[in-house]
Amino acid sequence: MVVVMSPDATDEDIAQVVERVESVGGEAFVSKGLERAIVGLIGDIESFHHLNLRALRGVAAVHRISDPYKLVSRQHHPQRSTVWVGPQGHQVPIGPDTFTFIAGPCAVESPEQTVDAARMAASAGATLLRGGAYKPRTSPYAFQGLGIEGLRILASVRETTGLPVVTEVVDARDVETVAEHADMLQIGTRNMANFGLLQEVGRAGKPVLLKRGMSSTVEEWLMAAEYIAQRGNLDIVLCERGIRTFEPSTRNTLDISAVPVVQALSHLPIIIDPSHAAGRKDLVVPLTRAAVAVGADGVIVDVHPSPESALCDGPQALLGGDLRDLAQVVRQLPPVVGRTDAARLVRRS
Ligand code: PEP
Ligand code: MN
Repeated sequence: MVVVMSPDATDEDIAQVVERVESVGGEAFVSKGLERAIVGLIGDIESFHHLNLRALRGVAAVHRISDPYKLVSRQHHPQRSTVWVGPQGHQVPIGPDTFTFIAGPCAVESPEQTVDAARMAASAGATLLRGGAYKPRTSPYAFQGLGIEGLRILASVRETTGLPVVTEVVDARDVETVAEHADMLQIGTRNMANFGLLQEVGRAGKPVLLKRGMSSTVEEWLMAAEYIAQRGNLDIVLCERGIRTFEPSTRNTLDISAVPVVQALSHLPIIIDPSHAAGRKDLVVPLTRAAVAVGADGVIVDVHPSPESALCDGPQALLGGDLRDLAQVVRQLPPVVGRTDAARLVRRS
């Protein structure tokens, strides 16, 4: 932490800063320039926060140098992490050595629709199945998901297809039940800052897919991940799913730069959701190309056996030919853009 003194700060003002810092066991190093002095602080940053240094006479600014998040920061963990999803012996990696392809319906609607979507996903090369049983809908009149029945369908489709399942949990009271049925818990964009829910999934003992809040900064997103990590769960995968901007041609604006930005700041894997970013199926393949090229650790996409009758997000669901195009991108593009992980694409442990 660095305290910047104002040009008119006196020696007494500087001494007061030093005294406060030392009173909580910290060290303060004063450096006097031509116009002003700065004081470098070493010690427990949280205890410095309580000192309220900014309010002292002669203090112009207080800057933090280290990241506000610790457990998910790359500063303390330079090696990028791999998160393994699924039962022992059938675990699917998400991380720097692979490009993981996750697909499935936006919402679980029936056993037939889910198994059909899962088969489409598997035959295109997906290794994880997505599908919402609890749907966080903007309108209370829209289909809210099948709830526990949806979880049972997902669990049975996992038995049929062998694909581990990722599904959203929207309420802290459901975390235990969702964790019993699913292999990975998804926190959706609307709940990224639901701190009670984050702490609950942090305790659930299953990997977490943490989507970026639609209006959240990268720092807020990583602080949300820190809430989960702080409860003892570092199996967190971040998912960039588009942010709100003024541009109406897409549902959200995919922040592609978030991928390298996050990878520089955090050791956690990061994937892209081009379906929810664009809200349009014609953009899912081009955005997946971008995901591969930018170095994302995977994609999660919506597929549906009959998008025209989907109860949720039909316009962005892939079918047939589009899905084959997507599979081709996932298989063929990585070596073209110099990604050495190509051979391990869609690999299982
Ligand atoms: C979803 O993946 O089904 C979903 C609701 O996504 P998001 O939270 O990104 O809108
Ligand atoms: Mn959706």
